[in-house]
Amino acid sequence: MKSVLGLDVGGTTIKGGVLDPVSGEILARGARPYDQDVPAAEIHARAAELAVELEEKARTEVHRAIGVGCAGLFDRQTGEVLASANMQNLVGTSLSGGISAASKGRRVTIENDANTAAFGEQWFGAGRDEPDLVLVTLGTGVGGGIVIGDQLFLGPTGAAGEIGHIAIHPRPGKSEYDAPYDADLECSCGSYGCLERLVSATAVSRRARSRGLTDDLPELADRARRGSGPEAAFLHQVGRDLGAGLATLVTLFDVDFFAIGGGFGAAVDLLEKGALEVLEERRYGTRPARIAPATLGPDAGWIGAARLTLEG
Ligand SMILES: [Zn+2]
Repeated sequence: MKSVLGLDVGGTTIKGGVLDPVSGEILARGARPYDQDVPAAEIHARAAELAVELEEKARTEVHRAIGVGCAGLFDRQTGEVLASANMQNLVGTSLSGGISAASKGRRVTIENDANTAAFGEQWFGAGRDEPDLVLVTLGTGVGGGIVIGDQLFLGPTGAAGEIGHIAIHPRPGKSEYDAPYDADLECSCGSYGCLERLVSATAVSRRARSRGLTDDLPELADRARRGSGPEAAFLHQVGRDLGAGLATLVTLFDVDFFAIGGGFGAAVDLLEKGALEVLEERRYGTRPARIAPATLGPDAGWIGAARLTLEG
């Protein structure tokens, strides 16, 4: 079976690699810088060059199609990038069309990078023995993707899986179950009390600071691991908040396996107990949930993108 090639186009780097689709062995890895002040065609050319370099490095026969994970909103028919905070120079151009043209007409399949990361983790990462997995990444925001029965769950327009915007607190004044209003829970998506406003790295720093704890997350985690002080109690609460979001996913999808990634995902050992506690409290007719750290790190996005080339 031919090896597969994937790229992960983000706001600072274009990463990519080639892997064996049977064993999962990584045969080549590489990167090119992403610059925000060059024309889109230059980005397409760098991606195409990287693909050629990766093929040469891999020293095997590589499937001609290219899978691409992209950190922006795009049109699924045309590949046109519609919006992206860190890739403004691509907006209004077709990423798949551009890379295809720059690489002599090779077929290019594009998908959101959070979804490709979930697809990668379920293929050869934390979920390699699991048909169903939800990846939750705890970074500046909360992202992720849903894989059900070895297939990405995208929804009719591809917008499914915005896990960070599951609201777990009602907006005061709009519900009979009022909690005190907290301006910090207002979310950029227009909602209030989203998971992202409570458990992203950014949110956890802010919440720690407001409790008089260090807002340096590695330090916070170290202190929590060393004892049962306020840091451990706080991160247990953060774990419970995470569990509330995951419980919603269990209710909707009957999934039982969660991989936790992203920078703050390194503290999953401290969040797991609280999260599982809530998942168990809210469990109704489903299997007990399991939580594991994501294992592919920065390779997850391109590995999942490479998997896309095996379809269609
Ligand atoms: Zn939101």
